[in-house]
Amino acid sequence: MSTRYAMVVDTRLCVACKACVLACKAENAIPEGYCRDWLVEEVRGEYPNLTAENRSERCNQCSNAPCVSACPTGASHVADGGIVLVTPDKCTGCKACMSACPYDARYVTPDGYVDKCTFCIHRVQRGQEPACVSICPTRTLHFGDLSDPDSTVSRLLRSRPYKVNHPESGADPNVYFLV
Ligand code: SF4
Ligand code: SF4
Ligand code: SF4
Repeated sequence: MSTRYAMVVDTRLCVACKACVLACKAENAIPEGYCRDWLVEEVRGEYPNLTAENRSERCNQCSNAPCVSACPTGASHVADGGIVLVTPDKCTGCKACMSACPYDARYVTPDGYVDKCTFCIHRVQRGQEPACVSICPTRTLHFGDLSDPDSTVSRLLRSRPYKVNHPESGADPNVYFLV
C-alpha cells in the first residue's frame, strides 16, 4: 500500500494555546492576516452540564479532493503521500478550488495565488514532523502514514473513537479528531 499521510488530533489534550497556529505562521512565512491552521473552540450543552472541545484544524488533505477536480489549470494537485498541493506559478487565483473545498481551508495570498496547509511536506521530506505537530506542548497533534499499521496515527485510530469533519462531503478527509 502506498504512503497515505494523515493527522490525528486528540481533542481531549488541546488547551487552545494556539502555539500550532503561530508555529505554522513562522515556519511557512504566512503573511499577516492569514493562517493555514486555526482553532475551533466549541462549548456544548447547558449550564451546569457543559462540555468543551478544542480542535486544531487545517486542510484535510482529502483523498477525493474536490479542490483538485475543480482547479482548471492543474495548479491544485495530489503529491507524494496523498498531500494536496498548489503550484503557485500555475494558479490564476480564480478561486474555483476555494468554492469547492467543504472546509474553507484555502485563501488567496497577497501575491494572488491560492495557498493552504501542505502538511509541511518540506519538513516531512527531511524526516521532521510538521511544525504544528512538533511545537504542540500537550502532544495533541500526531502526523504519520496510515498505510503503516505500526505508525502512531494508525495505532491511535485503532485504539480510540474518532470523527472527521463533514464526512457527508464525500471528500474523504485525512485529519482525524479523537473524541
Ligand atoms: Fe491545542 Fe496543541 Fe495547538 Fe496548543 S499547540 S492549541 S494544545 S493543538
Ligand atoms: Fe482540498 Fe479543502 Fe480537502 Fe484541503 S480540505 S484537500 S483544500 S477540499
Ligand atoms: Fe501549517 Fe505545516 Fe501544520 Fe499544515 S502541517 S498547519 S502547513 S505547520
